Amino acid sequence: MRIILLGPPGAGKGTQAKMLKERFGIPQVSTGDILRKAAQDNTELGRQAKILMDAGKLVQDDTVIGVIRGRIAQEDCRNGFVLDGFPRTIVQAEKLMDTLEDMDLSIDAVVDFVVDSQALINRLTGRRTCSDCGAMYHETSRPPKVRGVCDVCGASLYQREDDKEETIKKRLEIYQSETAPLKEFYQKQGNLKTIQGGGSAEEVFSRVCSKVT
Ligand code: AMP
Repeated sequence: MRIILLGPPGAGKGTQAKMLKERFGIPQVSTGDILRKAAQDNTELGRQAKILMDAGKLVQDDTVIGVIRGRIAQEDCRNGFVLDGFPRTIVQAEKLMDTLEDMDLSIDAVVDFVVDSQALINRLTGRRTCSDCGAMYHETSRPPKVRGVCDVCGASLYQREDDKEETIKKRLEIYQSETAPLKEFYQKQGNLKTIQGGGSAEEVFSRVCSKVT
């Protein structure tokens, strides 16, 4: 099963990707996670990406396309994957199609999450992320058992630099101009599934499952 999760920052793509991974045993392929890891490891790619990420801007198409090509060619992606945060531009979507065609593969479903913008801002400003395992929490709606500490691995939680209010606005603008046009792109291909992204993670997950199975 090969799935793309579309939707603005804060729509719940990461949470749903993790749940799909658990349910269907397919890896979550998140370009954001890969780039953040590269930044943490202080690689050349990571250093360059971090400047753009912290400013809420997109990393260059060629860079992320290279990252994705390498990742989906790995053994654990053989039976499928969930793309979380990729593609984000029409160029990326076209290059992904070419790459999959070369591999004789195709996408089964593109799930688009609809969430109103005030809810997105609330989710993002309250989001806290584990510095080690990447588990996600929310200050009020999904707090960890011990404040600032990950329930899963015990590492400390942090607020992503790009989850601060000014940067969020920039990210939402870029989403509208660069990423929202992908809905029409996939609508034309006939595999777009639109779902309401409001409610609990479990409620959203049952909507996702009803569209992808
Ligand atoms: P995310 O974790 O998906 O919210 O991504 C965080 C940041 O990583 C984005 O704001 C971009 O700076 C960068 N990024 C992640 N995925 C992409 C992509 N497909 N294209 C360009 N930049 C990306």
